[in-house]
Amino acid sequence: MSAPNIETIVSLSKRRGFVFPASGIYGGLGSAWDYGPLGVELANNIKKSWWNWLVYERDDIEGLDSSIIQNRLVWKYSGHEQTFHDPLVDCRKCKKRFRLDKLEDVQCPLHNEFHPGESPECSLTEAREFNLMFRTTLGAVSSDDDPAALAYLRPETAQGIFTNFGNVLNTSRRKIPFGIAQIGKAFRNEITPGNFIFRTLEFEQMELEYFCKPDEASQVFESLLEAYTEWMQKIGISKENLLLYEVEPEKLAHYSKRTVDVMYRFFPERSAESQWDELMGIANRTDFDLKSHSKKPEDTEGKRINPDSTEDLSYFDPQTNERFYPYVIEPSIGVNRTLLAVMMDAYTEKTNEKGEMRVILRLAPEMAPIKVAVLPLAKNKPEIVELAKRIKRELQPSMRTVYDDTGGIGKLYARQDEIGTPFCVTVDHQSLEDSAVTVRDRDTWEQERVGVDALQTYLSERLNK
Ligand code: ATP
Repeated sequence: MSAPNIETIVSLSKRRGFVFPASGIYGGLGSAWDYGPLGVELANNIKKSWWNWLVYERDDIEGLDSSIIQNRLVWKYSGHEQTFHDPLVDCRKCKKRFRLDKLEDVQCPLHNEFHPGESPECSLTEAREFNLMFRTTLGAVSSDDDPAALAYLRPETAQGIFTNFGNVLNTSRRKIPFGIAQIGKAFRNEITPGNFIFRTLEFEQMELEYFCKPDEASQVFESLLEAYTEWMQKIGISKENLLLYEVEPEKLAHYSKRTVDVMYRFFPERSAESQWDELMGIANRTDFDLKSHSKKPEDTEGKRINPDSTEDLSYFDPQTNERFYPYVIEPSIGVNRTLLAVMMDAYTEKTNEKGEMRVILRLAPEMAPIKVAVLPLAKNKPEIVELAKRIKRELQPSMRTVYDDTGGIGKLYARQDEIGTPFCVTVDHQSLEDSAVTVRDRDTWEQERVGVDALQTYLSERLNK
């Protein structure tokens, strides 16, 4: 089972402290969200897992952390100033703006049962292009429309990787094929944000740019796509909820030769064909970016394509004595959407012996914000409380552990199930006699007695299984 809709996750998130509306005390912003105490742990676990898998476990990837604000020329030569647009339409009746290609994602504000444009009373304007990059100005003296001071918040992290290609290549002494991985914030002035954290104004991307010889690119594309689908399953996204979508040639981004969107079933409540939307995209960016940021290439009339760059980002192959611009395969995945997919997939309902419905978030242990909760059976008994707190302190350095005595044991178990804590450790009167505690499994609700001395090893083994 997974969540029946995103709304279920919205209310669980708010109730338990995964995600809150940003600036909620002022009515929110609709498209900006804050991660609460549990959400930040889950997001960190996703990022850690991705980084470990790519940068530590593989031997062909380096890490990077580049700036959000770059020289404006980066966005000129990347093509974003010219082409990073979405088609925008206005409704003359309700005065709202929509993204033409995403009308089915929003409801008409005046006619609730329709999408914009579907009701005979809607009156949409012709589409016009709207650049998604957030603008800002640099320097204290600049006026807001001074072109010399204009800068952008990056709409993708990738460009910082391309501009650093030469730096990383030279300092790490790499030879292609190799990749550069980066996690960081990106910003897009989305026309129709919404669907909770699915589409937000700012979001973190986990991007990999993998550099290879042009004739290796198709094979690299296939193997990275396969590796990513395996990683997604490892963090708890089931295969049945994933679908690969080959982007049609006429819809490809300006830099892409081939793009496959990995779609997740974010909308299970919708009709079969509209249940899916993009979780990640993998693109063959060819040599587009390295070439367009380089000072050397010339057009057919012998004029430099990029008169502003001071570097040539080509690669010299010592084996063949050839110099060329590597091809780039880019898998790009958002932290928000991954977190939403992980939560939706983990969501389960189970009925207890009293016939009450309980929510269990069956997160992979690696993803769980809290690994172990230590619960005293009697909080008015100082020896029990003391032992429980000691166990918490001892487990904490190796696994995220909390102590909780704010309710009856049934309620405490239910709370931990709902936030995905794999194990609860209960300290009771008998623990004072036999130095053993009860370990309860989130998924089976089975309980086992374990000696306090053996507890850490026992839990580590089960968490790492
Ligand atoms: P969409 O078609 O949904 O607007 P996109 O194709 O523009 O997405 P990419 O440019 O391929 O997205 O970005 C790579 C990844 O970054 C996406 O797969 C998604 O996970 C994430 N992402 C992109 N835009 C947003 C956003 N506004 N909010 C949250 N995540 C986003």
